[in-house]
Amino acid sequence: MRNLKGWSVGLAMLLAMAGVAKTGAAQGAKPAAGKGDLRVYFVDVEGGQSTLFVAPSGESMLVDTGSPDRNTVTPRDASRIAAVCKLAGVTKIDNLVITHYHSDHVGGLPQLVALVPVGRFIDHGPNTEGAEVQGGASTIAGYDAYQKVLADTKADHLTVHPGDFLPIKAFKVEVVSGNGDVIAKPLAAGGQPNPACDTSPKKDPEGDENERSLGMVITFGKTRILDLGDLTWAKEPGLVCPVNKLGKFDVYVASHHGLDRSGSPALVDAVAPRIAVIDNSGRKGAAATTIDTIKGSSRLEGLWQLHTAEGNDAAHNTDESHIANLPGPDAGNYLELAVHPSGVISVTNPRTGNTVDYPTK
Ligand SMILES: [Zn+2]
Repeated sequence: MRNLKGWSVGLAMLLAMAGVAKTGAAQGAKPAAGKGDLRVYFVDVEGGQSTLFVAPSGESMLVDTGSPDRNTVTPRDASRIAAVCKLAGVTKIDNLVITHYHSDHVGGLPQLVALVPVGRFIDHGPNTEGAEVQGGASTIAGYDAYQKVLADTKADHLTVHPGDFLPIKAFKVEVVSGNGDVIAKPLAAGGQPNPACDTSPKKDPEGDENERSLGMVITFGKTRILDLGDLTWAKEPGLVCPVNKLGKFDVYVASHHGLDRSGSPALVDAVAPRIAVIDNSGRKGAAATTIDTIKGSSRLEGLWQLHTAEGNDAAHNTDESHIANLPGPDAGNYLELAVHPSGVISVTNPRTGNTVDYPTK
């Protein structure tokens, strides 16, 4: 994963693609995004998360920062996020949401803030994961490094809870989970019974930071996007059983990189996404069972992956045209989703230059 040679190829491609996109538009190719769109960039942080939302006004929200890199000169994930910020026209990240303190989410933060300034940091409150938990030492290190950044910068810091709205003007962000809690009452779009609860398998709580993930419902116009971070399988019934408190979604950022420790049939059937995006790597996430669950959901129109899941057969990967990174040298390609004011959603794969439009429903 820490293939430095691969990183430099990835960044070079990103920068090259920024140029290609401009050239393509000039040649009459359809631009991926237009004026008035909410743009969402799924940065390839190799099985971590980093998702950039940019409103038509330029107001921005980044969800998570990928992993740290021992290469402090050109750190892989921070550099990829900074490159995507640049091509998106983001010179300052207005809001940086940290869903939880695992290193694939908060780890890239110190290296990122050295490249792109941040206006406000948002999180679920203090870390309570100890060194006795598997991976706990790196969680503590990531949290401590984040606290140092908070102390060193003059940026605002906000702790939020289920039921809160983030102070973002251009799109609505409602917190539905955080620090182990979930919303008590259904959202306006929720409240339906969820028959999938009866047949959905049960899994044990994991007792770590994943369960404390900040989960968010992002609304732009009538378009609804669900991002629950790495919220675990055992926590999902609190949101969707026996009543679906969340309602249905246009876009589902597949929980926990598509690992089979999240994304139960109870959740996915309830939220019934039209479009799902999995931030997996070649070897992490996008479990075959997760793919089956998403593909089997009732309203699915498009499944997108950041990488081919190399341990899966073709039936347990989406179509190659919907994958940002194929097996082989690490290209670091992102995916871009644009929500147009009309409600049409476009997903662009910069690897191929192709865009798929999903008409308003
Ligand atoms: Zn993760």
